[in-house]
Amino acid sequence: MYPVSTGMNWGYGSRSPVVPGCTVVDLSAMNRIRNAEAISPENPVAVIEPGVTQRQLTDYLRKHCPSLAFNPTGSAVDTSILGNALDRGVGYLGPRVADVFGLEVVTGTGEILRTGFRRLGDRSPLATSHPYGLGPMLDGLFFQGNFGIVTSACLRLVPRRPRRVAVSAALRREADLAAFIDALARLKREGLLTSVTHIGNRQRTHATLMAGLVHYFERECGFEAERARHEAATALNVVAPNEWTSIAGVTGTDAQVRAALAEVRARLRGIARVRVVTDRVLEVGYRIAHALRFLKGARANAAAIAAMRPLHGLVNGQPTDVAIDNLLWQFGRADLPAAQLDASNCGLLYVSPALPLDGGFVARFVHSMRSEAARFRFELPMTINVETETSLVVVANLLFDRSVPEDVERAHTCARALHRLIQDEGLEVYRARVDMMADIVGRDPQYWKTVRALKLALDPDNIIAPGRYNLPD
Ligand SMILES: Cc1cc2nc3c(=O)[nH]c(=O)nc-3n(C[C@H](O)[C@H](O)[C@H](O)COP(=O)(O)OP(=O)(O)OC[C@H]3O[C@@H](n4cnc5c(N)ncnc54)[C@H](O)[C@@H]3O)c2cc1C
Repeated sequence: MYPVSTGMNWGYGSRSPVVPGCTVVDLSAMNRIRNAEAISPENPVAVIEPGVTQRQLTDYLRKHCPSLAFNPTGSAVDTSILGNALDRGVGYLGPRVADVFGLEVVTGTGEILRTGFRRLGDRSPLATSHPYGLGPMLDGLFFQGNFGIVTSACLRLVPRRPRRVAVSAALRREADLAAFIDALARLKREGLLTSVTHIGNRQRTHATLMAGLVHYFERECGFEAERARHEAATALNVVAPNEWTSIAGVTGTDAQVRAALAEVRARLRGIARVRVVTDRVLEVGYRIAHALRFLKGARANAAAIAAMRPLHGLVNGQPTDVAIDNLLWQFGRADLPAAQLDASNCGLLYVSPALPLDGGFVARFVHSMRSEAARFRFELPMTINVETETSLVVVANLLFDRSVPEDVERAHTCARALHRLIQDEGLEVYRARVDMMADIVGRDPQYWKTVRALKLALDPDNIIAPGRYNLPD
């Protein structure tokens, strides 16, 4: 059996099981927020089932507990919060694995196991409040492990801070990328930037904004398709000309945000052009630029703001379909809802190495990844995501048309080459597809032998046949 929560694991294998012949267990109908009545600012924990989506929890909290939010991802609003966390997905505020504890699991032996203090039963005051339990923490076994089917878990909610802004910083000279990363890393460590910092390259920034720009020119300026595209391409070079641009959130009280912004500006002075983006700035900026849209520069700005606005919602904890809609638009299927990305020809492989938080190392490695991808004629859209105080993750996407067999082959060959590059540097991806597993296990069979022994304890009839990865006896 192969469980999925909503099965939208795009770029990492979607809902396909890791071996043929599995029964896919679709848990999307298990969508209760089990403790809904008990959620409050004093009890900021939601006990959710796998089918609870970003949309559902956002709507619930907005209606019943508006002072609380959760850590949203940039994926579709109808993705599962728990499914994403179990694959160690990452939200706007950080890795979701840190948000989840107290799992309820159906193991392969048919038993129900509750981790942490949930084992004390629902009536225990500790069941959903103390994340660590007593004794070995078993939670970790169920992330990226399929050691069992998780049927519910506790999710930490976060208080909505009174002031929430985004800081965008455009790196002036590409040669300063290492110093830029180091400065942003320090700001993250010191708690001045309160979200993940996303540092996107030009391809990535342009891909993110393109569809929104074209829509603006078509809908608000009445341009036909070709002119709208042309104007969008020109606008991108005006509004996002830099090779690397970062975006991060700063939240807190008014005074905290003001002080943090002053510090961010001081630290990045000379390296990057810093802009503070708020709902109000976007609203007023749009109104003025839109009114002046008969001027080319003004309409470029109005279009950029229109494209940026839904993404800015993430600062307020509001998930959006925009990133997926962009892909659908790119592949000529703007008619499809985001949840049906797999019905389009959009082929997507993520290659996502974890790296130490060391600017020099990261700048050099990112350069190697881009050179390697260029050998396969891929310009690599990528973001460098400063996620923890000590490490970051690079998310590189290979986009291709799934209806063209040569492109599919080229993308997979490139993904394999990039993975080899990562491993040769002593690094590893933070999240793997099944096609990467043989190389991952091959580098460290002894470790994976232990993992397998643990798995057999909970899932003796597991779906991976004994000889599959040639583990040592
Ligand atoms: C444009 C775009 C943007 C994206 N942005 C992000 C992002 O910001 N952050 C991010 O992390 N990802 C992102 N993704 C990748 C992906 O879409 C999300 O991670 C998505 O949330 C995963 O799908 P899902 O929630 O439906 O999980 P599922 O596909 O249901 O689950 C993921 C995996 O976890 C395991 N699993 C799921 N449920 C269970 C269960 N109940 N018990 C045991 N094991 C289980 C299964 O192995 C499954 O394959 C993005 C993708 C695209 C295309």
